Amino acid sequence: MTESSLKRRGLMFVLSSPSGAGKTTITRALLDDNADAIISISATTRQRRAGEVHGQDYYFVDMAEFNEMVAKGDMLEHAKVFGNYYGTPRGPVEEALEAGKDIIFDIDWQGTQQLAEIARDDLVTVFVLPPSSEELERRLNNRARDTREKQEDISGRMAKAADEMSHYSEYDYVLINKDVESTIKNAQMILDAERMRRRRQKGLSDMVRGMMNGL
Ligand code: 5GP
Repeated sequence: MTESSLKRRGLMFVLSSPSGAGKTTITRALLDDNADAIISISATTRQRRAGEVHGQDYYFVDMAEFNEMVAKGDMLEHAKVFGNYYGTPRGPVEEALEAGKDIIFDIDWQGTQQLAEIARDDLVTVFVLPPSSEELERRLNNRARDTREKQEDISGRMAKAADEMSHYSEYDYVLINKDVESTIKNAQMILDAERMRRRRQKGLSDMVRGMMNGL
């Protein structure tokens, strides 16, 4: 058996950051560059923004649908963020892990804590920081212009950014997103290294025993 034929359990790759730190760009690049990775599409009660697509960016649901998913145990984690509810549907995550696919999550610190409680061994957590508060504000303003977001939403997000950032130390890795290309490269390095963790590689002991018998 060759090393490349070994099966591997998928991992859960969580990216968190204050909004505007560049997490979405990093997530998209990782998906483009890793054919075997998929993204976890969350359900949310938040209003759809211009350009967002149901079933692609989020599953946009109402409060009753959201509560039903939670009550049925269909959410792996869920949390209230900026006054709206967000949650991770369980099914696609479990399927991906079993199939040896990596699954990328764009969720907040509350969701990350919940995943850590139920699946620490499958979890790799990365916090993305902006290089400065000025840069964060600039990026939020640019985005608000593109998505026609309301001014009060932006001030709310700036206020929440401080709260989100205070949780950086709960994460395995921290990336400071000064230059997005380097940040993407660094995120890829983390993913590559974590894939090689011994516990994720199934059949290693059989492979090594086989080699030892052949000596
Ligand atoms: P936005 O509304 O800007 O898309 O996302 C707002 C925040 O909610 C972001 O910090 C994002 O990471 C977080 N979020 C999105 N989906 C989920 C989810 O399924 N669970 C949790 N806990 N947070 C989420």
